[in-house]
Amino acid sequence: MAARPTAPTIYDLDREAIADYLTGTPSYRVEQLWQGLYTDGVDLADITTLPAPLRAELAEKLPSSLDMSVESVSEHGDTVKWLWNLRGGAAIETVLMHYKDRSTVCISSQAGCAMGCGFCATGQAGFERHLTVGEIVEQVIRARRVAGERRVSNIVFMGMGEPLANYDAVWGAVERLHGAFGISARHLTVSTVGLIPGIRQLADASLPVNLAVSLHAANDTLRNEMVPINKRYPLADLVDACHDYFDKKGRRVSFEWALIDGVNDRASDAHELAAITQPLRAHVNLIPLNPTPGYLTQGTPPERVREFATLLTNLGVNATVRKNRGTDIDAACGQLRANSAAAEAADRSGKPTGGADGTVTQINPPTRRGSA
Ligand code: SAH
Ligand code: SF4
Repeated sequence: MAARPTAPTIYDLDREAIADYLTGTPSYRVEQLWQGLYTDGVDLADITTLPAPLRAELAEKLPSSLDMSVESVSEHGDTVKWLWNLRGGAAIETVLMHYKDRSTVCISSQAGCAMGCGFCATGQAGFERHLTVGEIVEQVIRARRVAGERRVSNIVFMGMGEPLANYDAVWGAVERLHGAFGISARHLTVSTVGLIPGIRQLADASLPVNLAVSLHAANDTLRNEMVPINKRYPLADLVDACHDYFDKKGRRVSFEWALIDGVNDRASDAHELAAITQPLRAHVNLIPLNPTPGYLTQGTPPERVREFATLLTNLGVNATVRKNRGTDIDAACGQLRANSAAAEAADRSGKPTGGADGTVTQINPPTRRGSA
């Protein structure tokens, strides 16, 4: 298991902690540093309002954490994905998705994941460690620099890891992204496999963020197989917690459903799903399963995805088929890391490592690339 870095990153400090740290310097330095880090979002070295010796000291004592290992850009340039090496040895992923004039960042909350969902590349690799507030926030900062003119309008906790298993750091990051970046709660989405204590804690928290629940199966027998944590937190209790969230926060819960050929794409699955989601007036996001190296079953073919969506709509469910963004760059949870490890292994054995699909993938570029 990778160790946590011993020194905090500069993004681990909230405004108060920065003020404490800077005790003895003029008080306006706090605002200058905060503005540089969050409003301008530039690298510490480029916060020129601060004296160079102070910048150097901060960089040494509170170094940032993300060191780019791989950057992949999808064929049409609408999706960028990074694999970062963290101080302390773990690797995580971040995905930036462009829409017309805005962008969404998909961030990781843990290196690896302990939940063991068999269809998920992150789950297949197991748990390494929790991320700190700073390591979560830094992903958004790095992505925002690349988004350029496009406004980063939405943040989704749908990268590696189970956010509600790392609740305190995730909540610290939510507050920072809300307070320092000005991203409103309704543009922040926490996705969970269904950790009921975490959902209840979130329902009592101060900001009404969006809650997405990765359901994938609407009966306990199938869900126990696909999502092992269902044995501890069975469907009926999970659905209760979702009702409470809706009642307390006034936010409709959304459900994720990765369609797997012959597994959860039958008419009976649609009926069971409708029975759960209709009373909640919930939205269902249908995503054809992305193939992963450790799971042999395939995603539902497009024609039957449409049929499943139509059946749900006819049952009165609000359902959307999500585009499988960035499949060409392994932009599903944990896949860039899995495939990068496979590529490295292939490289060692002298086999070619692909690149014929229009994908631009860079492995081990200079450390600072992308931070401009
Ligand atoms: N642990 C949290 C958040 C990270 S996973 C959760 O499970 O909700 C983000 C989403 O990707 C989840 O809905 C998850 O079920 C989905 N996912 C994982 N592996 C996938 C795959 N191979 N194809 C499609 N979706 C996948
Ligand atoms: Fe963890 Fe989510 Fe992957 Fe399940 S789907 S293993 S909870 S990251």
